[in-house]
Amino acid sequence: MAAETVFGKIVSGEIPVEIIAETERVIAFPDQSPQAPVHVLVIPKTTEYPDVAELAAGDPSLLAEMVDVAKQVAAQHGDGDFRLLFNNGSGAGQTVFHVHAHVLCGGLEERSLVGS
Ligand code: 5GP
Repeated sequence: MAAETVFGKIVSGEIPVEIIAETERVIAFPDQSPQAPVHVLVIPKTTEYPDVAELAAGDPSLLAEMVDVAKQVAAQHGDGDFRLLFNNGSGAGQTVFHVHAHVLCGGLEERSLVGS
């Protein structure tokens, strides 16, 4: 089980966000510090998985559902093409240890990675 994070508080509703897309197991909401014209975070509602490697090992169908939600977000809020980025581990820039996908659309030509 992952430690309590800000994303757990978003899932529980303690921290309100604009819900961009939602399924029974996944929600998507805007990143508070956007790095592209469309920058949405897709997260599972479960707090069980701190990073994408653990999610892939523990519940690959949930990972696939996150990718499907990312595709829907890109179709509805961008031109359908998107970059999907997971930071896995603090050394890779991960700061919130509740697995999340960055969905980035538009204005990506000059950007290679999310992060500082
Ligand atoms: P990481 O660096 O862990 O891959 O990405 C964490 C992302 O979460 C960052 O892009 C950061 O801007 C975003 N973030 C952190 N706290 C919040 C929050 O409370 N609300 C929203 N909407 N985004 C957050």
